[in-house]
Amino acid sequence: VRIFNVDAQGFNRKEATVLTLFKDVSQERAMEQMKRDFFSHASHELKSPLTAIRGYAELIEHGLVKPEEIIESSHQIVKQTETMSALVEDMLMLSRLENLKEKVYSKQDIDKLLKEVIDNLSAFAKSKNIKLNVNSKPLSFMCDPLDLQKLYKNLIENAIKYSEPNKNVNIDLEQKDDDIIFSVKDQGIGIEPEYQQRVFERFFRVDKGRLDGGTGLGLAIVKHIALKYNGSVELSSTLSKGTKMTIKLKIE
Ligand code: ADP
Repeated sequence: VRIFNVDAQGFNRKEATVLTLFKDVSQERAMEQMKRDFFSHASHELKSPLTAIRGYAELIEHGLVKPEEIIESSHQIVKQTETMSALVEDMLMLSRLENLKEKVYSKQDIDKLLKEVIDNLSAFAKSKNIKLNVNSKPLSFMCDPLDLQKLYKNLIENAIKYSEPNKNVNIDLEQKDDDIIFSVKDQGIGIEPEYQQRVFERFFRVDKGRLDGGTGLGLAIVKHIALKYNGSVELSSTLSKGTKMTIKLKIE
């Protein structure tokens, strides 16, 4: 810290400069730390499937897999590459969302986008005998269609993933004044109050050991999409009863 030997007015001015500088540096440091944490976490997440792929490939290379087990080993390799692709795709999506200069919007029929996403997830819902009840009217909205598709997919997929079989999921899409309101309500396992804020953090998972979990970036992406459209995310959840996620997006 430098002490300035100047008149009162000048001293204040310089002191203010110094303080501002400190503030910027600490913010910059926090950002850098966040980036370091993110990269170290992401590398770790990528390393597990990579190690598994290498393991299977080496066993095949050395002739240590019986002919009848080759198909299963290849299946494992494909599965692990899918995990890696999903992770890379989500990381790219987050980076795209952080670069808000890239706002390319066009008028979209967002009820039709919702129907497409639901069609793509219907086999997954069927496999658990989960009923998707949809309530939406024709709606158009200026947006990037990829954002809305990802928002719908992440929330509906979670509602199915974190529900026991034979439950219902209610999906609502509507416009109220200047807001597009999208909500997904499940009858699933619920989220404990202490974790309800944390699920929006990158790579945070309530149950770290879950094998059918996704990338751990889904809700972080949802939060960033809501921010991009000056909106909000509301979560209400009761353990063993279910979860409701409500996303509001502002119509400009
Ligand atoms: P993941 O890829 O693990 O699903 P997300 O970011 O989408 O990552 O969600 C973070 C965590 O929040 C999940 O691992 C899960 O523990 C919890 N979670 C998300 N949605 C729900 C839900 N509908 N019901 C219960 N828990 C949920």
